Amino acid sequence: MPVISSNKPYRIGRSKTGLGLFATKRIEKGTKIIRYIGPLLDSRKKEDDEIENKYLFEINNRWTIDGSIRRNIARYINHSCRPNAESDVNSRERRVVIRAIKTIEPGDEINYDYGTDYFKIFLKPIGCKCDHCEKKRKKARAEARAEKLRLKLKAEKKAARDASKPAAKATKGKATPAKSSTVRVAAAAHARGTGQVTKTKARRTRPLAASDGAKSRARKSRAS
Ligand SMILES: [Zn+2]
Repeated sequence: MPVISSNKPYRIGRSKTGLGLFATKRIEKGTKIIRYIGPLLDSRKKEDDEIENKYLFEINNRWTIDGSIRRNIARYINHSCRPNAESDVNSRERRVVIRAIKTIEPGDEINYDYGTDYFKIFLKPIGCKCDHCEKKRKKARAEARAEKLRLKLKAEKKAARDASKPAAKATKGKATPAKSSTVRVAAAAHARGTGQVTKTKARRTRPLAASDGAKSRARKSRAS
């Protein structure tokens, strides 16, 4: 681990996702904390453009800082979706500085937002582990648990209500509608004098073939 002079307001320490940079002194809002340093890569040079690592900081279309060098302590700063610092990019001078956007207390982890491209490529597929996203996930889990419990209680209440109904009534209630509708159909057919109850029933229960509609239409027209 790189040695950091003791007058600096930060140290490298364990974070949830590996290592991180933590404040050792109070850092006032607006303070320049550290520079993000490394060789400048020129996208117009093929050999530069082919370099790939997690510590590339794109300044603009042309210039990128390769922050993977050991000396670049700022590479230990983790991403957060609700950060306490920001990356301040000076495109003309091709310099990047990490600056506090809130007052950071000793012991707090220093974070900045890596930006949408990095988030989409590296963080979204594995799920962002920043405090903000962890809290959001925890809240969603708690809400899902509460909803599950609510549905369970609702089902139990319904079961209790059903159980308290007289058994005979419940059976009768279930059986009657089917029976009575058959009776009603038969009665109606009888009243019309068509006597087609059985035919109606047969057509309904037979599995439907592609030509069924045509056949039944043909039969109907012959009958009339
Ligand atoms: Zn996040």
